[in-house]
Amino acid sequence: MAEVKGDIFEYTSEFSERERALIERAYKTAKKAHGDQKRHSGEPYFNHPYEVALTLAKLGMDASTIAAGLLHDTIEDEQMTEEEMEKEFSKEIFTLVQGVTKLGTLKYRGLKRHVESLRKLFLATAEDIRVLIIRLADRAHNIKTIEYIPKEEKRKRIADETLEIFAPLAGRLGMGALKGELEDHAFPYALPEEYEKTRELLKQKTKADQKYMEKVRRTLQKTLAKEKISVIKTEARLKRLYSLYKKLRHHDMDIDKIYDVVALRVVVPSVADCYRVLGIIHRTWNPLPGRVRDYIAVPKSNGYQSLHTTVFTGDGGTVEIQVRTEAMHREAEYGIASALSYKEGGHKSRRRKQKQKALQKEMSWMQQLLDWQEHVSESREFLDSLQMDFFRDRVFVYTPDGDVIELPEEATPVDFAFAVHTDIGKHMAGAKINGKLASLNTRLQGGDIVEIMTKKDAVPTEKWLAHAKTTLARRRIRAALNEAKNR
Ligand code: MN
Repeated sequence: MAEVKGDIFEYTSEFSERERALIERAYKTAKKAHGDQKRHSGEPYFNHPYEVALTLAKLGMDASTIAAGLLHDTIEDEQMTEEEMEKEFSKEIFTLVQGVTKLGTLKYRGLKRHVESLRKLFLATAEDIRVLIIRLADRAHNIKTIEYIPKEEKRKRIADETLEIFAPLAGRLGMGALKGELEDHAFPYALPEEYEKTRELLKQKTKADQKYMEKVRRTLQKTLAKEKISVIKTEARLKRLYSLYKKLRHHDMDIDKIYDVVALRVVVPSVADCYRVLGIIHRTWNPLPGRVRDYIAVPKSNGYQSLHTTVFTGDGGTVEIQVRTEAMHREAEYGIASALSYKEGGHKSRRRKQKQKALQKEMSWMQQLLDWQEHVSESREFLDSLQMDFFRDRVFVYTPDGDVIELPEEATPVDFAFAVHTDIGKHMAGAKINGKLASLNTRLQGGDIVEIMTKKDAVPTEKWLAHAKTTLARRRIRAALNEAKNR
């Protein structure tokens, strides 16, 4: 191992001799394959696969994934044939690299190529989730070095695609840290004016806020110590820029309407501690009504767990506080990667099993995506419904019986009805939200209790189609309209 020095080998120091030898072989092969090839920045091309593999090593991925990261561009750039890779490495590594490789320009062009490449990526990911993690690490390095791409048009396209596809994918895998990195690097190139404006707003806000936050943090720390709660850490966290921008868009770009620009985070050992801390916080400061969120009892769709509350801290100030365990914190930052982590491997602990379960849930989402994409033939429709059905932020709403229905954030009672059952959708006569009659184009809010009233002779109309946001509801309504026409 002596001749190869580098960070990858520090992160994999606990790997077996065989695994380390595999990574070293991939390192040398990729270095030789890319030869004097250069990136736009003028540095050796090999730096790119190296950085991708380093990200994978930092995420704790296994040796085959790291090796595939090193080799990921060798087939696409035709430095190596598929046969060579399978022979010199393994079927497993070949499959990973092939999954990441984009489609050639010969068969498809433009938007069509883009969409077919995505379909291919999803197919390969459904077989092996590690393909997607390599692809995300690849995009993370490309977006960090986007400034060197000479054409503005191309920079914009890559940045847009990162915000529309890759960051949301990282989000669906619960990889908060990677998602934030992708977004914040793409933001200035995709939306330059919005980026400047958001940065300016944040600068003004945090100057005033940070001192105040430190005062609140110290008070909280003392209170928790008095109550004999063992605290792993308390910290002030600043909202990431793009995530702040997304929220500002819903609040007329008024930063004073956003409660969690700076939030306090408390990390404690156990779930029981989380609830105790929440109780103490509410005894110390009055909570803002309607701002308490229990994501431990009802996790977000990507598995995110924490308790959130916003409290009045005196002098007219309000502070959002997030309480979580260390495991929840790791999960929020690394998501699926922490379930696949090398360090977690081999143990039959309960946590390992829980994580495996979360992993399978992610896979069922991927399967759903595959089933769905088979029905969408138009390239533009594919991209649009991908946005709406899979990447839009989700809201949880309830049936009157308390069943949870998960919908994209702009969904209406029409989407809700079809999500519950096709027959309920088809015979919808009206809707009640939280006990009050509501029109069918009302935008549902998280926590709403939705009741759909049905009538035997009610039938779908063109208007419903306009109110429906999800592909499922739109497809069912269209089918019913066609059926009526042909009768
Ligand atoms: Mn690459």
